[in-house]
Amino acid sequence: MKPKILVCVALSVLFAIADTLGQTNMFLSNPDAIKILKGDYNPLHYRPSIIIDQPDSVRMGIIREVDQKEQTRLLNKLETFHNRNSGSDTLSQTTGIGACRTWILSHFDQVSKNNNNRLVTGYLEFDADICTKGHHKNPFALLPGMDTASHEILVIEGHFDTRNEGRCDTEGYTPGIDDNGSGTILVMELARVMSKYSFRHTILFTTPTGEDEGLFGAKAWAEFLSLQGVKIRTVLNNDIVGGIYCGKTSSPPSCPYFGHADSTHVRIFSYSSGNSSYANSAHKQLARYMKYIQDELINPYLSTPLTINIMLGEDRTGRGGDHTPFRQKGYTAVRIISANEHGNGTGTSPDRNHTTRDVLGKDLNGDGILDSLFVNPGYLARNTILNGVVTGLLASAPDKISATVEAKNAGVVIKLPDGYKNANEIIIGIRKYQSKSLEFDTIFKVDFADKIEVELSSGQKNYLSIAPLKNGAPGLFSDEYEINLTAVESQEQKTGLRLFQNYPNPWSESTIIRLTAPQEYIDKPAVLQVRDLIGRVVHQQNVVIDAEEIQIALRSTDLHPGLFTYSLISAGKPIQSVLMYKN
Ligand SMILES: [Zn+2]
Repeated sequence: MKPKILVCVALSVLFAIADTLGQTNMFLSNPDAIKILKGDYNPLHYRPSIIIDQPDSVRMGIIREVDQKEQTRLLNKLETFHNRNSGSDTLSQTTGIGACRTWILSHFDQVSKNNNNRLVTGYLEFDADICTKGHHKNPFALLPGMDTASHEILVIEGHFDTRNEGRCDTEGYTPGIDDNGSGTILVMELARVMSKYSFRHTILFTTPTGEDEGLFGAKAWAEFLSLQGVKIRTVLNNDIVGGIYCGKTSSPPSCPYFGHADSTHVRIFSYSSGNSSYANSAHKQLARYMKYIQDELINPYLSTPLTINIMLGEDRTGRGGDHTPFRQKGYTAVRIISANEHGNGTGTSPDRNHTTRDVLGKDLNGDGILDSLFVNPGYLARNTILNGVVTGLLASAPDKISATVEAKNAGVVIKLPDGYKNANEIIIGIRKYQSKSLEFDTIFKVDFADKIEVELSSGQKNYLSIAPLKNGAPGLFSDEYEINLTAVESQEQKTGLRLFQNYPNPWSESTIIRLTAPQEYIDKPAVLQVRDLIGRVVHQQNVVIDAEEIQIALRSTDLHPGLFTYSLISAGKPIQSVLMYKN
């Protein structure tokens, strides 16, 4: 009896370890890859015949060369694998996850062939029990950096597995075009476009598996890279980046109403400690960097500009993604996801994510041509450009600066480290405490100097970030410095309330207004008042301020179409007036 019990105890301990690890026996199918990841290689072996490495040329090249038609062609091919559940077929040449990963790897190999064999490709393989399959593979391509000194890698990823209504349905039709064919094709297209260019640091393009069953592929990467001591500058996780329609269900904070279309916004989720809008972390600083790059260096060259919404949470309520295992290992990581999504992950009818209906589009008149595309090629291309430009610039940008920052009179003095020469200009971003915005309130550039003096216009408390800019490549922002000034209180600070621009705007079915309030306003009566342009009150509603940040909804029945201003009345006084347009 005794030995038997001992065996049982030993086994249960073993299972407990396996369960916390999730994946074991991790290895790279290509032995050269580990040397690239660690910076232990000769960059000359991976030089292209023509070197294009000027950040401005690379950026404009990526903006020009991301190809919507090519991405749509790849999405159509991806659909033919029928089912990409992590437990699906690995023997067939045409269907199942095995055939699909072979196809992704062959795409990376073809890209490499077209570019002087510059890419190092393969699989990160690992064991984990997912829907009865025990062995799994993450396809990847590495573009080795041209400088191995203080070597770092940058990761662009999007999971390629899918799931159906049934979590372990390994047979049924599971196209997964938006979730996450869109992210998969984004990664494949950037491998093609970016392989023509040269970067200081190494870029890892990868499509992990097992996301829908518990982030297995991303956990394997994060754990493997961390065990190997690989330094990662940034991780961009793309999951649902092509759809533009709002479904009947979606996880909050979510899109406005069923059928709403939006191809002009994208959400960036990232971790930060605390639950207020002062939220800060390296991840939020990366999201702010992405917004800056999109606004300054991408949007002027797009016919349809893209607006980045920096989100408070690490993901939507009750949902998760592949950025989290990287963050948990101490790496800087964000999730990129479309503004509108169709589905809350439960496979609820009539929504599309995690169902047989997550297809490219609909043939409405039966002529064999899709008339309505659920994944919008232009939108997917814009999100692809965002990833490529941000990663491309960061792959050649100088390291973060750590400066000394001191408050002085109505401003600050920034002193750069002795002998620091790694910038032509310095970018300064400021968030005002009382604005409670997740975005910078002000951002500007100053000429490089050892000592920089900046005046701050108003408010007592400010958060200041600095980033180096060298040869057209801005680096990541520093951690935020908290600056306390002894300036005169502004009007805004006396009231301390802030109403944000409604979203969406213009709107027709419903819209959301975000409101932030300091402690003294919580549980005090307030009224939202909407006026037409000659000042008549056309709608008002009581507002319950029961938290530091609340959302007020307006519905189509509240207003007729037109241009309006809205304001909040608290203690009999109106606070702020914001313009909105109802269709
Ligand atoms: Zn997904």
